[in-house]
Amino acid sequence: MALQTQNENSKMLESELVGSFEDAIKYGYIYAYYQPQINHSTGRMIGAEALMRWKHPIFGVQMPSDFIPVLEKNNLIYRADIHIFETVCAFQRKCMDEGLNIIPISVNMSRYDIFNTNYVDEIEAIRRKYDVPVRFLRLEITESSAIGGTELITKVLRELHEYGYTVEMDDFGCGYSSLNILKDLDVDVIKLDMAFLSGEIGGRGGTILSSIVQMTKWLNTPVIAEGVETLEQADYMKSMGCNYIQGYLYYKPLMEEEFLNVMQKLDHEPLTPAMHLIQMLDTGKFWDPNSMETLIFNNFVGGAAIFTYSIETGDVKILRVNRKYVKEIGMNMNEHDMIGHNPWENHDADSRAIYEGVMKRAIETRDEEMCECWRNFSSDCCGDDKICIRSYIRVIGEAENEYLFYAMVQNVTAEKRHQAQLFEDESRYKTAFEQANIYAWEYTIATKEMRPCFRCMRDLGFPPLLKNYPEPAIEQGIFPPEYADMYRDWHKQLEAGVESLEAIIPLTVGRVPFHVRYTLEKDENGKPLKAYGSATLVVE
Ligand code: C2E
Ligand code: CA
Ligand code: CA
Repeated sequence: MALQTQNENSKMLESELVGSFEDAIKYGYIYAYYQPQINHSTGRMIGAEALMRWKHPIFGVQMPSDFIPVLEKNNLIYRADIHIFETVCAFQRKCMDEGLNIIPISVNMSRYDIFNTNYVDEIEAIRRKYDVPVRFLRLEITESSAIGGTELITKVLRELHEYGYTVEMDDFGCGYSSLNILKDLDVDVIKLDMAFLSGEIGGRGGTILSSIVQMTKWLNTPVIAEGVETLEQADYMKSMGCNYIQGYLYYKPLMEEEFLNVMQKLDHEPLTPAMHLIQMLDTGKFWDPNSMETLIFNNFVGGAAIFTYSIETGDVKILRVNRKYVKEIGMNMNEHDMIGHNPWENHDADSRAIYEGVMKRAIETRDEEMCECWRNFSSDCCGDDKICIRSYIRVIGEAENEYLFYAMVQNVTAEKRHQAQLFEDESRYKTAFEQANIYAWEYTIATKEMRPCFRCMRDLGFPPLLKNYPEPAIEQGIFPPEYADMYRDWHKQLEAGVESLEAIIPLTVGRVPFHVRYTLEKDENGKPLKAYGSATLVVE
């Protein structure tokens, strides 16, 4: 054995590892680090994983990737795993004795452990010895446990479940037959390692998406994303309905003391199934890059986005947009940049209130709801601009206090500006009428309904629609009694097809003379449809 300084870690040979194993167990050179698992949406802790470390008094810290294969090869892994299980139980016991709020801890199981028929009974005996409630212990198995057949692992799973343990499928997606294995094995949690997915997010992203397609088939199984190093990865996983994160982004594996601090500092919450997606959407297909749904999302639906909305905080986060969305909004961004964007930045308080109102309505109705909002945009090149977006939104998934929305958008700025122009034109028209002292109305023959102009409404107090015309106007005393029957008769004549009528009639309480006229409109068969009435002040 070469002599080394204690500060330097150096890799040990297989024979050195095997030779020092007994001492390592005996003196606690093999021990556990703990890596917290966090709900990315709430920041609360959902559990932790115990990771084996070996610190040799001379060679220093050894990493699992170097010594675990050696232990497996030399039939020592079983004892090492049992030792870690006991270490974890002792840790939980100590925390409970100190009155601390403990969290479930996952312990790794080697695929070789299941060959030892005592494994389940042995860990159960340890758990009882330390009297740790079973819900605070989880076991991680890997797909490789099923190599050579699922019989043995199925039996172990059944026994673990009988005792009440939660079993996690570790490294899901790394094997070739992930799908089949998952179908056969009754696991409670899936751990998806980012390293097995495509490193690139948002780009071609096919690898990630197809893994997610598999994942969504077990939507009622919680999924923990492992090896999450960046916020982008975490947000992306969240977009898949997977909020649980274990990785350097939050914490590296921590030594016991540090872990204890984190465990006390953070709030805890239970592990629950991933975001529940509403049935109407075939979720598997929806995330599949080759599916018809995705083709539709990208090409046929126009601008569309998927975003989350938190009832608690009011936060909105964009998870996915298609190309047309970016084009429709006209932003100087690509689809990738839009992910994680906070759209409230572009809303003023009024338009935000409108949009939030419609989201709440959509949550209630579970139906498509529409709203129009003006949004502000500013860029270096174009300065400040306002655009009007019409959105049709619908809830497609929900988790606790958080909803997943699907929105189709249309940029209706041009339409709105055109309408505003029309309105302005109309008001000019109205002003012209006012100056000419003309009152106008429209009479529908079949229904005897009269629609007055704005001025009639204002000056005569008419509602927008008068039924059984002309009776209400006569009752109101606008016509002198001696003209009332003549005026009633006019409407009969119009009904009979008389093309036009006119007379000077003193109107209103002031009995001011007006030139009153009617012009009849007929349909293509000559049947009377509408009559257009007008009253012009006679200027003497
Ligand atoms: P694993 O079970 O998949 O454990 C996760 C590994 O990913 C850990 O490596 C952890 O430190 C690392 N990791 C966590 N977050 C990140 C991240 O954000 N980025 C990257 N690049 N890595 C991250 P570790 O501790 O070196 O363990 C490696 C493997 O050794 C484990 O992979 C597991 O297969 C095995 N192992 C560890 N402890 C035990 C044990 O007690 N028993 C058995 N049988 N195997 C163990
Ligand atoms: Ca693991
Ligand atoms: Ca893993």
